[in-house]
Amino acid sequence: MNSADSRASIEELHSSSKRIVVVGGGLAGSLEGLFLAKRLGSSYEIRIYEKREDPRLHEGDSGRSINLALSTRGLTALDKVGLSEEVSSQGVPMYGRGIHHSNGQFEIQPYGLSKKGEFLTSISRHVLNCILLNACERAGVNLCFKKACSSIDLANNILYFEESESLALNSSFESTEQDIPWEFDNVSSKFIESEIQRTSDVSFNVNMVKADVIVGADGVFSRVRQILENCTKAKFNYSQVYLPTCYKELTINPTASGSYAMYPNCLHIWPRGRFMLIALPNSDGSFTCTLFMDEDGYAVSFKNIETNEQLLNLFSTYFKDVIPLIPDLLNQYFHSPLSFLLYTQCEPYHFKNNIVLIGDAAHAIVPFYGQGCNLAFEDCRILDELIELHCGKWFDVLQHFSQSRKSNADVIARLALENYLEMAQKTSSRLFLLRKRIQITFSEWFPNTFPSLYRLVSFTNVPYRDAVSLVEKGNSALRKYLICSLCVTTLASFYWIKCLWRTN
Ligand SMILES: Cc1cc2nc3c(=O)[nH]c(=O)nc-3n(C[C@H](O)[C@H](O)[C@H](O)COP(=O)(O)OP(=O)(O)OC[C@H]3O[C@@H](n4cnc5c(N)ncnc54)[C@H](O)[C@@H]3O)c2cc1C
Repeated sequence: MNSADSRASIEELHSSSKRIVVVGGGLAGSLEGLFLAKRLGSSYEIRIYEKREDPRLHEGDSGRSINLALSTRGLTALDKVGLSEEVSSQGVPMYGRGIHHSNGQFEIQPYGLSKKGEFLTSISRHVLNCILLNACERAGVNLCFKKACSSIDLANNILYFEESESLALNSSFESTEQDIPWEFDNVSSKFIESEIQRTSDVSFNVNMVKADVIVGADGVFSRVRQILENCTKAKFNYSQVYLPTCYKELTINPTASGSYAMYPNCLHIWPRGRFMLIALPNSDGSFTCTLFMDEDGYAVSFKNIETNEQLLNLFSTYFKDVIPLIPDLLNQYFHSPLSFLLYTQCEPYHFKNNIVLIGDAAHAIVPFYGQGCNLAFEDCRILDELIELHCGKWFDVLQHFSQSRKSNADVIARLALENYLEMAQKTSSRLFLLRKRIQITFSEWFPNTFPSLYRLVSFTNVPYRDAVSLVEKGNSALRKYLICSLCVTTLASFYWIKCLWRTN
């Protein structure tokens, strides 16, 4: 860093204009930046710092899950910033689960109420991120790429960013060593100047930025969250759990004529008990498949698929119909990285009146309910509503946000874990299918009395917590109804037998 840059950095620190800094320009960060620009753009400068390069400069993202399923919560938030139509036009509707049974049969289980035309939208993560970043730019958000937040001076609200040419699109910043202490209780300008001097000797630059409010939207391994964890004054709780299940992604390319190789308007599932394959359609005619399986410990696990023969054996035994759809299966499988799944919980989501965590930084959940991004987008909508409700009194806004979001995020985290069982095992059970059909029929006839949980989660904005209690109420009403019907039928039968006996 030269002396002009140092001066610029110090000027930034003493600048009097109010500023909100969003750390992380992924899905939650870019939507949050947009919400903030629309609501507070006239009184705050809104800045997003993203550690990767600008994704709009690249064709696509080869990182974690290429596409994702958006449902009502996500689309409602996008609608509030005027983007739902643009996003929907880039996605592919999925009206149900397309189940590939072990015996080769294929059937579609509809998701929602047929008359309401409820569906999920499969969309490319990269396209979604680009749409959001473009909208941010149009709304006047300042976007800073290749800047990774490394530390925060919590006492003075100063963020430290590292810039490195080597930070490629998907590189993991988490593994780089940190030279800067997590927290400074009191930073004098002398210290800041010496810090600038110190960092001018190394290969990366450190930028310092003062912010009135900091939004941590930096994903599951959030640096902002780690900083709060290390601050004793924050009284911050955090836990993370890795699942034994891991995943690999594969692609089913379009046919020679450019059309889809399978029916496109559903989420394909090959449920096989402890493991499963799923496929989501992309708008270019391809499908992104995800193979979920234990890493180790079972006969069918990633550890036991090391040779071509083992892989072909796995697919010909369990996913026979997929083999002709992926001619380069061997190559794809052995080049696809093995990714891990984890969920995290923390509390509270805020610190004092100036730091808040949203999206995966606050609550990463497993992907089996397709709700992680929807939950993150809902965070942005709720935060916006609370800013309006509390007229920008940040302490009230952030405290209210923490309280209301934590309980809901915990509920969907649990449901997402449970849904793995439903997707991998139950969707192939005849009894489950019968129950599901009865449930759908009841919720079509009496949507208010017997709501379906999947419907409430995926096709409404009812808070997750309330969705669960509504369904519990419905189930207990259904149980009472069944018991009453049984009693009435039994009594009627007795009466009828008695009458018959008397007449004889
Ligand atoms: C296999 C899989 C499938 C999924 N499918 C679905 C689905 O179908 N539907 C759904 O709703 N959700 C799904 N999810 C969940 C969804 O991907 C996440 O919930 C969502 O991406 C969260 O967005 P985010 O912005 O909080 O985090 P991220 O998308 O991880 O973005 C965080 C951003 O912060 C940046 N960053 C990190 N550290 C720093 C730093 N120190 N400084 C600056 N920037 C930083 C990162 O580069 C990144 O751009 C799935 C997840 C997985 C793993």
